[in-house]
Amino acid sequence: MSELNPFLIAQRQLDECAKILNLDDSVREILRVPMREMHVSIPVRMDNGKIHVFKGYRVQYNDARGPMKGGIRFHPDETIDTVRALAAWMTWKTSIVDVPLGGGKGGVICNPKEMSEGELERLSRGYIQAISQIVGPEKDVPAPDVYTNPQTMAWMMDEFSKIHQKNQFGVITGKPLELGGSAGRGDATARGGCYTIREAANEVGLDLKGATVAIQGFGNAGYFAATLVTSLFDCKVVAVSDSRGGIINENGLDGEAVFEYKAKTGSVVDFPDSDPISNKDLLELDVDVLIPAALENVITDENASSIKARIICELANGPTTPEADDILYKNDVHVIPDFLANAGGVTVSYFEMVQNFYMYYWEEDIVHERLDKKMTSAYHATLKASRKFNINMRQAAYVVAVERVVEAMRLRGRL
Ligand code: NAD
Repeated sequence: MSELNPFLIAQRQLDECAKILNLDDSVREILRVPMREMHVSIPVRMDNGKIHVFKGYRVQYNDARGPMKGGIRFHPDETIDTVRALAAWMTWKTSIVDVPLGGGKGGVICNPKEMSEGELERLSRGYIQAISQIVGPEKDVPAPDVYTNPQTMAWMMDEFSKIHQKNQFGVITGKPLELGGSAGRGDATARGGCYTIREAANEVGLDLKGATVAIQGFGNAGYFAATLVTSLFDCKVVAVSDSRGGIINENGLDGEAVFEYKAKTGSVVDFPDSDPISNKDLLELDVDVLIPAALENVITDENASSIKARIICELANGPTTPEADDILYKNDVHVIPDFLANAGGVTVSYFEMVQNFYMYYWEEDIVHERLDKKMTSAYHATLKASRKFNINMRQAAYVVAVERVVEAMRLRGRL
């Protein structure tokens, strides 16, 4: 369905923002499309001896504020329009947290669940080779996203270093600690989201102690969110899910125990002392905080009016459609929009780049403290714009982020 095409949604969101800011049409035209995109074919020798050609993309959306930055997603349903949308959102994300970076994104159409470790390594090396001309510490710096992880980043960094015949730690972030990774990168997305939940709870007058939380998606973002809302705020996580289904226990789920169970069985489904719940029903639970942490377009005009949460913290990118946004705003649901809520990952990725440049590494508590400052100030800049223009939090985040990008373009003489 075209209206669920993430890139059309990203363009629509930008159009709305352009109206609020009264942006010149030519400026809007520049911001509606990526500056550059690269489509690559990656031949990989599979374990059965045959060569399979994978399709991959790198989209470089905007570099007015600095080198482009954005993750690499390995997914069977990856499309160029998803990558374009994610690259656009990265541009607004680096801007909203005010780090000196632009936005980009990468993706490969593949199914990592059906590939061996060796095949994944050859694909990772092949992909970074294919895009090596347009990435680099001062050009465009990738990172992990869905179904890629620190090991993937280590292979890519190694391959890029071989091409350049010197260590190039700064070409990619989300690396293992042993290879120039940053302390605090693993849980940074969820932790950053938690700092915004704390501020939002203050804003709506919600006591987080004992507050109930439901989380869709139990991967990097969702798992850490489950453990952090408990350890930081004493919330009660009542439901979590993954691609195979969900589980619920009104007395609370132990995030660590669910993680260990999932590591053994491959899914959260059938976790002891829990009842099953569908991904659809999980979103409509009567909870205080809802955290979508899986994929796009899960909150639509079909289910938005059934959502009972007071706060939605969008750790996933693009979980809510524009129609759903209107409904949630009318129903007084406080939405912390994706590129603000999940900006903790890119913020600590930026810290990782800084540490790589200086070859001097920070203690974890310094990372947390600096992350908290960035997220808290981004949340309040958004809240302030939402009050000033009487608009929802997503529109407000756009207003703040787009204004900064436009100002950088103007100062560079690009407008
Ligand atoms: P991940 O691969 O670690 O986890 C994804 C989770 O979603 C898995 O538990 C998977 O089973 C589940 N899932 C997949 N399809 C689903 C479906 N149809 N219904 C319910 N669950 C489903 O990925 P991640 O890194 O945690 O990313 C999740 C979301 O967060 C994505 O939208 C990603 O773009 C966004 N995000 C992640 C980071 C990060 O640092 N990891 C940063 C910013 C944004």
